[in-house]
Amino acid sequence: MSQREISARAGLRAERRYLFDMQQEPKQFAERAALIAHVKNISPMLADHMGAEASPIKGGRAAAEAALANIDPIAYGHSRNYLDGAVTRLSSYIRHGILSLNEVRNHALELGDGKAIEKFIQELGWRDFWQRIYAQNPDWLWRDIEEYKTGFCADDYADALPDDIAAGETESAAMNHFIAELKNTGYLHNHARMYLAAYMVHWRRVKWQAGAVFFLEHLLDGDAASNNLSFQWVASTFANKPYFFNLDNLQKFAAMHAPCDYRDNKCFAGTYDDVAMRLFPNMEAL
Ligand SMILES: Cc1cc2nc3c(=O)[nH]c(=O)nc-3n(C[C@H](O)[C@H](O)[C@H](O)COP(=O)(O)OP(=O)(O)OC[C@H]3O[C@@H](n4cnc5c(N)ncnc54)[C@H](O)[C@@H]3O)c2cc1C
Repeated sequence: MSQREISARAGLRAERRYLFDMQQEPKQFAERAALIAHVKNISPMLADHMGAEASPIKGGRAAAEAALANIDPIAYGHSRNYLDGAVTRLSSYIRHGILSLNEVRNHALELGDGKAIEKFIQELGWRDFWQRIYAQNPDWLWRDIEEYKTGFCADDYADALPDDIAAGETESAAMNHFIAELKNTGYLHNHARMYLAAYMVHWRRVKWQAGAVFFLEHLLDGDAASNNLSFQWVASTFANKPYFFNLDNLQKFAAMHAPCDYRDNKCFAGTYDDVAMRLFPNMEAL
């Protein structure tokens, strides 16, 4: 038997053992607190990765149906970019197959005509789009699809995520807020994901792959296609230009949710041109 076959068989045995062990675990708990205590007990190695509390997002079909019943795809269209906008928080149910995109789309169609809910349907389309891109190009997940369009090359970016980002102790109070939220809840609003990803890649000049790993470690909806290809879009390795923002933008969309005052977020201050000149000094005007 070749070394490869021996490794494959060992892998299969380990997987069977894991599935067997999981089947022995209790499935019913009198209350959520008992479930949380049990999961903590059987996963001590996760202690460093988890926030102090379990996520408020509940698992299971009943919780998914309740969340689906609450969506407002019409309000979504004009408020979704604001951190207190009418986003659905359905992502973890969709990611884990508890709700299908089709079911969500059909439910939305019962709540408003096509035009009124167009933006919502388009966003569902993004999930499908990333899955299809991944299925057609599985090797795009972890490698730069194109070069960075930032005036820097990949070697100019650090391989590892700096400790202060991992700990949520950066120079920006808003980013620290998003990092703590990500760790404590396993969820971030799309705009917060874009801000934090851009901060990692463009302000701190860290490879998008390091940021993507950090997100996947903590997101309950963590999905390598949506996550990594979105990171590549922010980074500009899968887009014509980098995504970045300034303090005015952050304050407009996030101040109702995170600490966004100038004093604690100076690194984002200035016009878009000012910020671009600081972040991308080797580039022509964007
Ligand atoms: C850097 C970065 C990392 C991301 N990582 C993930 C990830 O790991 N898993 C994941 O499911 N999504 C990811 N997204 C996409 C998006 O941010 C989330 O799907 C969305 O924020 C989930 O919250 P929601 O359910 O309240 O979304 P809503 O805004 O209410 O949207 C409804 C559903 O549409 C889909 N959707 C909406 N926007 C997007 C989008 N831009 N791309 C793909 N699908 C979308 C999701 O399934 C979502 O649940 C990422 C985006 C960025 C910028």
